[in-house]
Amino acid sequence: MADKRDYYEVLGVDKNADDATLKKAYRKLAKKYHPDVNPGDKEAEAKFKEATEAYSVLSDADKRRQYDQFGHAAFENGGGGGAGGFGGFDFNGADMGDIFGDIFGDLFGGGGRNRRANNGPMKGANLRARVNITFEEAVFGCEKELEIVLKDECTTCHGTGAKPGTSPVTCPKCKGQGQIVYTQQSMFGMVRNVQTCPDCNGTGKVIKDKCNACHGTGYTSSRKKIQVSVPAGIDNGQCIRIREKGEPGTNGGPRGDLLVEVNVARHPIFQRQDMNIFSTAPITFAQAALGGEMRINTVDGEVAYEVKPGTQTDTRIRLKGKGVPSLRNKNVRGDHYVTLVVQTPTNLNEEAKKALEAFDAACGNRPAADSTAETSEKSEKTEKKKKGFREKVKEIFEE
Ligand SMILES: [Zn+2]
Ligand SMILES: [Zn+2]
Repeated sequence: MADKRDYYEVLGVDKNADDATLKKAYRKLAKKYHPDVNPGDKEAEAKFKEATEAYSVLSDADKRRQYDQFGHAAFENGGGGGAGGFGGFDFNGADMGDIFGDIFGDLFGGGGRNRRANNGPMKGANLRARVNITFEEAVFGCEKELEIVLKDECTTCHGTGAKPGTSPVTCPKCKGQGQIVYTQQSMFGMVRNVQTCPDCNGTGKVIKDKCNACHGTGYTSSRKKIQVSVPAGIDNGQCIRIREKGEPGTNGGPRGDLLVEVNVARHPIFQRQDMNIFSTAPITFAQAALGGEMRINTVDGEVAYEVKPGTQTDTRIRLKGKGVPSLRNKNVRGDHYVTLVVQTPTNLNEEAKKALEAFDAACGNRPAADSTAETSEKSEKTEKKKKGFREKVKEIFEE
C-alpha cells in the first residue's frame, strides 16, 4: 500500500469536516464508483475501495484521531481480520457492515445491514464500570474491589452452544455463507445487496440441540470480583483500563477490556485543578498584623506556616509539593495554594473593645484616652457619632 493518498483528499473534504460532511462526500463517491454500478471497471473499483477505506477511518472518532496524529502509519501494523466481503477490502476489523448499512441502506433501498460473516478471531467488546473514591484516594491512589457480571465461555459446550455430543450444523438458509445475496433492480441497474443471514446471524451455523447450561448462547454469566488499582493523581472522570476483563472474544480472539470510570467525591475544604490544590484558611486580624505561626490543613495533614507581619486579606501563599502527584510519576507533585482570609473580629467583650480602641488611638485614628472618666465620656460621644442616619431620624421623632 505504497503512496496512499491522504484520506481527507480522497473524500475531497477539509481536515475539520464534520460527520455529516464526511458522509455526504463518501455517499457521492460511493454512488459514482460502486462496483455494482460499474461492473468490470477496475479503476472504479479501486476508487470505491479507496473512498470506503478513507470513510471507515474518518467516520470513527478514535481512528480519525490516530490518523490525524500518525497518518497512515497509525494502521500499518494492525492485524487484519478475515477476508473482506465487499470487494476484498478489510480494515483492521472495521465494522464495514455498519458503514454499509448506514450509507447504502437507503441508497439501494435494501434497508438491511450488510454484515458479513467474520470467521477470524475477534476481540470481545469492552465493558464499562464506575468506581467512587474520595478526594484523598484520588490524590494518593487506592485499591478498590468491583463486582461485575462477566460472561465466560460455557464449560459444558465450550462455547459452541450445542448440546455435548452434538455440534452446530451448516445453516440451511445461507448454506454456511452467513449472508444472503439479493439481486434487485434499481436506478443504477442490477444491484447486488448483501444481507446477514437472519437464521444464523452471520455465523453460517445453526444449533439444533441447544446446550442446557447456556441455553445455546455459548456463554455463562457470573458475578466476579475485580481488583482495581487506582493510581495516585487520577482525576474525576478519568478511566482505568483493565485489560481482558470485558466480553469474551470470538473464534479465539482476546477478551475486551474493562473501562472503569473514576468518580471523585468533592472535598469540603480542598478544590483541585489538574495537579494543584486550592483552599482558603482564616487568620485573625492580630495574626495578619503581627505575623506568627499558624497551622494549615493539607492532604498530608497539618503543616506549620509562618505568617508575615502585615499580611493583607486574600493573600495567596504556595505550599510547594503539597498538591496532587503526577499520574506518570507520583514523586512529582503539584502545589497547594492557600488564600489567607483575615477575619474581622465580632462579638467583642469589653476588654477586647477597649484594647482595640486603645490600638486605634495608638495608630492615631482617635484621641488618646488619658483618664477613665474622660474615656467613658468620649466613648459615649463616639457612640453617638457612630449612629447611623436611621437611628438619628428615630431619635428625632421620639423626642
Ligand atoms: Zn453451553
Ligand atoms: Zn445462515
